[in-house]
Amino acid sequence: MLMVGTDQVEVERLLVSGELSCPVCPGVLGPWGYARSRCSRGPVGTVRHQPRRARCTSCGVTHVLLSALWLLRRADAVVVIGAALEGQATGKGHRPIAMASGRPVSTVRGWLRRFAARAEHARVEFTRLLHALDPVAPAVTPRGSPVADAVEAIGRAAAAVVVRLSPVGPWEFASRASAGRLLAPPAGVGW
Ligand SMILES: [Zn+2]
Repeated sequence: MLMVGTDQVEVERLLVSGELSCPVCPGVLGPWGYARSRCSRGPVGTVRHQPRRARCTSCGVTHVLLSALWLLRRADAVVVIGAALEGQATGKGHRPIAMASGRPVSTVRGWLRRFAARAEHARVEFTRLLHALDPVAPAVTPRGSPVADAVEAIGRAAAAVVVRLSPVGPWEFASRASAGRLLAPPAGVGW
């Protein structure tokens, strides 16, 4: 799985023109059909989408190209999950957050628990990204909880991307920067 931008036309262009790098070797990816279609839950309803599949022209490994609108193995859009994490950062509990997002309490509790367990890692990684993007960025101000600190670091790094590179929503940025693994179990090194 390779996280790509949210603009399908642009992803297709990069793929066809050989501008997408293989994540496992120095080669480039070319088009290789489509992955199975899936139903995901966006902010305003169910979305059926069929991710592109790509194959490296050097090593032959295939990759599913997942839009940064989503996270790995999560059915809900990252912007919906991100709004829940922002609620958590301001001290809200899982019930009011679930009510606001229209998602089951058990689902939302799962997101919050997983993110809380990964918050320090997320804070460190996104703070590192922030300072890589903007070496003179002021330090991230502590917000009083690991989750709030992580959400702050994500927002600051996303804002630096917008200034330095291109417009992107903070949670789509977080999806892409974490390789879709914002809520995934720890993988050892990196995400
Ligand atoms: Zn390769």
